[in-house]
Amino acid sequence: MSVRAGILVTGTEVLTGRVSDRNGPWLAESLRQLGVDVGQIVVVGDRPQDLRAALAYLAAGHDLVITSGGLGPTADDLTAATVGDFQGRPAHLDEDLERRITVIVDRLVARFGGALDAQATAAGTRKQAMVPVGATVLEPTGTAPGLVVPAADHSDGPPVIVLPGPPRELQAMWPAAIEQAEVATIIAGAPQLRQTTLRLWGVPESELAAVLRRGGSALDGLEITTCLREGELEIVSRYRPDAEPAQQKLVTEVRGSFGEKLFSTGPTVDQIVASALNDRGWTLAVAEAALSGHTTARLAAALEGTEGRNRFLGGLVVQVPGARVPAEFTPSDDLTSPVAGQARSARAAFGADLGLGIAGPTGAEDGGAHVVIAVDSPAGLDITSFEVRGRAEFVRERASTLALHVLRRLLAQDPPG
Ligand code: ATP
Ligand code: MG
Repeated sequence: MSVRAGILVTGTEVLTGRVSDRNGPWLAESLRQLGVDVGQIVVVGDRPQDLRAALAYLAAGHDLVITSGGLGPTADDLTAATVGDFQGRPAHLDEDLERRITVIVDRLVARFGGALDAQATAAGTRKQAMVPVGATVLEPTGTAPGLVVPAADHSDGPPVIVLPGPPRELQAMWPAAIEQAEVATIIAGAPQLRQTTLRLWGVPESELAAVLRRGGSALDGLEITTCLREGELEIVSRYRPDAEPAQQKLVTEVRGSFGEKLFSTGPTVDQIVASALNDRGWTLAVAEAALSGHTTARLAAALEGTEGRNRFLGGLVVQVPGARVPAEFTPSDDLTSPVAGQARSARAAFGADLGLGIAGPTGAEDGGAHVVIAVDSPAGLDITSFEVRGRAEFVRERASTLALHVLRRLLAQDPPG
């Protein structure tokens, strides 16, 4: 028996794309970890009739509904009142809550200064302290309180959890929301679900489809989704613990068909490169040309010193061909490829164990756009050229993924002597 939740994201700024939704995906992942299936994420603007229609729609097919946004002090924030109304629970002023919000607002004003219209502030606070009868208040993690609003008496509709819009506030309030008795009871009915991600590099989706078909009924019990992302193919399976043998069968089948191309049964390529460098105690430096610093930034972030020492020493980004660069980065020797020169000079300039050179298309190439990647390591110099076509932002993203896979493969080999 599965437990299903519907998520209602409110806010005209999200609907129009000015702000991209971070609450829907975050809630979906948090619910998944609890074993709760997310049926739908619906986005509506700040219009009461749309909000109401969406509530009716989600309440009909789910055991739990969660809303985000629209809890502020201004008139366009109408989620609490609309949910209360929908659940048949008229609002009343919770005076104690009003006092608690006042303390929070006063503290904010004291900290940030500025003159507030006292009357308007009091009206806003009073609005935020209006609580539907029978609802549970979730203490503010910013200024706005959240709510758990049960269905009307004698109705078997789902409770609605009402959370604030700012992602940090919503995330901070989530633990209190799922501890609330009515919500906890529903979640307790959810089965345990496992999720595993297999990652493939260099495999077309069509080939994978054939392998999955061959797996046939041995894969029953797995909910498999495949997704092509940045040139990597991800296979995500969700399953109950008793379907673990089917999952093992899947791993065996995929490994049997694709061998080394199955590069991970969990961690991302960024994580794999980071831990491989950590295992060897190696450091990395980068010299990047004509890719807007994307590879440098991605490697710097991936290797941020979470485990011991920072493995990323630094990088040089050159955007304009022929730009004057520091002397350490202008190797005078006879290297055939300028990218090899970048790799070698980055390694030498920073005193790193590995130097990575990467160069984007120059615009002057005929017969395709090339990204060239060189790595200078204790094992020698390794140069690879890839053809990447597309708009500049696509090329620089793909180039950074290619660089990570080049590093991953190099680090998968035995360290020299
Ligand atoms: P506030 O008291 O800040 O008004 P609120 O609960 O009314 O809280 P909203 O007005 O809906 O929240 O949103 C406040 C801000 O939070 C938005 O301007 C936006 O920057 C951010 N925000 C809201 N919803 C989302 C979302 N789904 N994803 C990402 N950011 C969001
Ligand atoms: Mg608001």
